[in-house]
Amino acid sequence: MENISANRQIKIWRVDVREQQLAISPTPDHWVHLGGRGLLARILLDEVEPTCAPLGPRNKLIFAPGLLVGHMLSSCDRISVGGKSPLTEGVKESNAGGSTGLQMTRLGIKALIIEDAPTEAGWWMLHLSPAGARFEQADDLVGVGVYDAAPRLLSRYGGHVAIALIGPGGEMRLSAAGIQNLDKDKVPSRINARGGLGALMGAKGLKAIVIDAKDGDKPPIAHLEEYRKAQKEFNKALLAHPQTKIYADYGTAAMPRMSNGFGGLPTRNFSEGAFEGVEKISGEYMRQILLQRGGESETTHACMAGCTIRCSNIFGGEDGKAIVSPLEYETIGLLGPNLSIAELDDIARMCYQINDLGLDSIEVGAALGVAAEAGLMQFGDSARAMELIDEIRKGTPLGRILGNGVVTTGRVFGVEHVPAVKGQAMSAYEPRAIKGTGVTYATSPQGADHTAGLTIRAKVDHLDPSVQVDLSRKSQINMACYDTLGACIFAGFGFGAAPETIRDLLNARYDWQVEADILQVLGKETLKLEREFNLRAGFTSAQDRIPEWMTRQPLPPHNAVFDVSEKELDEFFNW
Ligand code: SF4
Repeated sequence: MENISANRQIKIWRVDVREQQLAISPTPDHWVHLGGRGLLARILLDEVEPTCAPLGPRNKLIFAPGLLVGHMLSSCDRISVGGKSPLTEGVKESNAGGSTGLQMTRLGIKALIIEDAPTEAGWWMLHLSPAGARFEQADDLVGVGVYDAAPRLLSRYGGHVAIALIGPGGEMRLSAAGIQNLDKDKVPSRINARGGLGALMGAKGLKAIVIDAKDGDKPPIAHLEEYRKAQKEFNKALLAHPQTKIYADYGTAAMPRMSNGFGGLPTRNFSEGAFEGVEKISGEYMRQILLQRGGESETTHACMAGCTIRCSNIFGGEDGKAIVSPLEYETIGLLGPNLSIAELDDIARMCYQINDLGLDSIEVGAALGVAAEAGLMQFGDSARAMELIDEIRKGTPLGRILGNGVVTTGRVFGVEHVPAVKGQAMSAYEPRAIKGTGVTYATSPQGADHTAGLTIRAKVDHLDPSVQVDLSRKSQINMACYDTLGACIFAGFGFGAAPETIRDLLNARYDWQVEADILQVLGKETLKLEREFNLRAGFTSAQDRIPEWMTRQPLPPHNAVFDVSEKELDEFFNW
């Protein structure tokens, strides 16, 4: 392997898993201005045949820290992971917090591109450090869940390393499998959840990637004084935003009451938009019981060093021992109301198992909702839901059906009511009641994904179809830019209030001269690259649609249907 200790410039690291070789090269000029999600889209268009088999050797698994990653700027050290999605068969980026992004930048990695496929069966651990890359056998970790595998790796490689790893779900190449990353407390809880990227990592024969940046360097800052000034402005705007305090107190679990109030909380497989048990799954209730339970419970927690929002939590049981961290709105929504389950302890235990398998709790929760409609469980039966999750762990045919996501589950069991777009499950915002987010589900190149453009906080009538395309477009452009910067969705509270800090931070760090419209420039470029990949993969406007049943079956309590016109959806990218 090449020794790169003498050269820590920001470079492209390519790992060939067939030859087990690392090659390091300069960043091509037209990649330099991108990072995170935007860079993934650029690399996919440049290097991956859009019609390739997602689990085949021509697909690539790419890790790309965002442009602002590396200096613990609040909530801005996220890692984007991408490839052609085994779930949607289109472009895929999924980002996560934790420590992977920060440590990769300290090795000088602009993008890690994992190529080809192993020729023999077996599992490997890829170790990255200033000395280069090496492969070590990981057969002893086969079938081991992430909560056991991570401590074993930490004791082998030292408590300072970052780790990205897959669970049994990724090993089985299930389309709901993600990649788990260590949080700042070394718990493998921050998942690149969406789109089946864990299956892609499994197809590359990698159980884990260990990043040892102990002897690495912080990325350079061209103009330190200007950078510090912009950082201060950003922090000020972030801390002054009223939502920052709400998310610090309640985390994303602040959302159930709000979604329910709009009639947009998916209930019993998206058949209703309001849940009678909402109070018992609300953030307010969760905060109250966590404060009462004490022990290892924490109502606020940072997934990465330096985050001032701290929207994460540690959910402890009645004995105060941690059940899972974090317990977030999407998981609560899909495993709670969507299954008619109103007990947070039950939801937390299911979440733990799904995390341990390295699976996306949105995709699995949606698949269980469809399974309930198909009669495989009764709505409200959390014990049966847990048995079905255990089927996935055992790798039974039923478990593999569920683990391949909501569309596979619906098809196998003949269910019409499948809440998905481009093969990917909707998250916990009902598109018939929160129609702007419905437009995002329909038009995002990523498939149904609230983080691609959530609109619920906008001060509009969410049932009025006439205002939703503009709203979703603005939100999608913002999010595509934030994901390119490596910024958490909630860092958007600060960037939204002080957008000039994006320009100032980039210019100070990189000695660039970007203008105040950089948010628009990066966001639009990223979306266009992603759309281009999908078009070349064979996607048409037929995929930019909410499922037909949602356009004709009214959703209680507002009895709304999704009625944004197809013409408007087709004009989404005409900006
Ligand atoms: S706001 Fe939450 S998700 Fe975002 S970086 Fe902080 S703890 Fe992580």
